[in-house]
Amino acid sequence: MTFASKTSSLRSTIRSRDPLFKWSLEDFREWLLGTDNRVRGTAAPLWHCEYCREIVGLEGLSIDHALPLKWGGLSDGDNLVPCCKPCNSAKGELGASQFRELRSLARTWPALMRTYLFRKLMAMPQGWLRAQAAQRGREKLLRRIKHRPGVDTGDEADG
Ligand SMILES: [Zn+2]
Repeated sequence: MTFASKTSSLRSTIRSRDPLFKWSLEDFREWLLGTDNRVRGTAAPLWHCEYCREIVGLEGLSIDHALPLKWGGLSDGDNLVPCCKPCNSAKGELGASQFRELRSLARTWPALMRTYLFRKLMAMPQGWLRAQAAQRGREKLLRRIKHRPGVDTGDEADG
């Protein structure tokens, strides 16, 4: 995997999720090489994962929206963070601070439970939380309709 191919695919992934992401490939590469997470003084490009601080190379590199797009996060230099793939998939649609809190809470747990939790989180399909939220939204809407007199009964409007 080359830097050129990896950065091109990372940028495509962000673009496919956020049509407002307008960075050129040049801008994206410049940002990635200049980010604070970059491990300095190495020939190969390496980064510290934003969340677990492990060192990740091109192969394991992933780009996360610290504040997820669905919560209004932007695809810009303040919100995009390099991280490892396991952290990105475990984080899902949690905000960065929520994920850090979860990680630090889990640190007090026995190793077995911690491993179990993160395996489960990583195995969760990406759309799972979205589906949960959509379901809650539908239920709320149904409740609202039910409680609005006359809406689903076909009654004539009050004279
Ligand atoms: Zn990580």
